[in-house]
Amino acid sequence: MSDLNQVGEFDSWVCWLCDKPVDPDASVNSDLGPSVDSYWIARGSKSAMERLAHRQCNTMKGKISPVVHWPKELLVSDSAPIIESVERLLKKGGREAIARCPSEADAKNVESWLLDRLSRLAPKTKFKVELTPAGGQYLVKLSLT
Ligand SMILES: [Zn+2]
Repeated sequence: MSDLNQVGEFDSWVCWLCDKPVDPDASVNSDLGPSVDSYWIARGSKSAMERLAHRQCNTMKGKISPVVHWPKELLVSDSAPIIESVERLLKKGGREAIARCPSEADAKNVESWLLDRLSRLAPKTKFKVELTPAGGQYLVKLSLT
């Protein structure tokens, strides 16, 4: 069992799933209190990585599937589940089509949100986003660098 403070500092006291701040002083028994979650989402890692989560967001050692939500303000369609896509990339490499956007400007918003979000979701991995025009829309593709 690792030290909550160490895990909290590694994740800068931000929940790895909902991306919102975690109060280090909140009670560990409250829903929004800090907790250590175990999940493997790191390149080449076979053992679970310990991450900071709100108690209510904690996957309880895999009993609950982790979900990263797409923000409502992004204009996307066919948006893929982020964690599953990232896991497939880490396992098999290649490219994942992760969303479609109605315009290039929307696709650029998705690109900057995604790269920022992924820098916290999988801090040891570097990602690349490609925007490709496709049938009057923009396809957002994710790969590892
Ligand atoms: Zn949370």
